[in-house]
Amino acid sequence: MAQKTVVTVVCDLPHDGEVDGTESVSFAFDGNAYEIDLCGPHSKELREKIGAFADHARRAAAGGRRIISRGYGLGRAAWPGVETRKVRAQDDPCSR
Ligand SMILES: [Zn+2]
Repeated sequence: MAQKTVVTVVCDLPHDGEVDGTESVSFAFDGNAYEIDLCGPHSKELREKIGAFADHARRAAAGGRRIISRGYGLGRAAWPGVETRKVRAQDDPCSR
């Protein structure tokens, strides 16, 4: 019997009920890398708030050199807007 698994991405921030996530946003802060699934409005809010600081900041390798030299660099983690991965509300794992 064929099975179909449907993964639903919801916004990680509090809502009254579940709200579909439209984007997974990666960012680094204080040496830690984070990834969060956000709805459209929260994605915009994150970019506006962090963007205000990022506009005045120096670019640096995510997580710093120390982590990268140990051989497991953070790769795609960066300020929001620099590297994001679009996700669909209903992501079919067969299409990955
Ligand atoms: Zn949200």
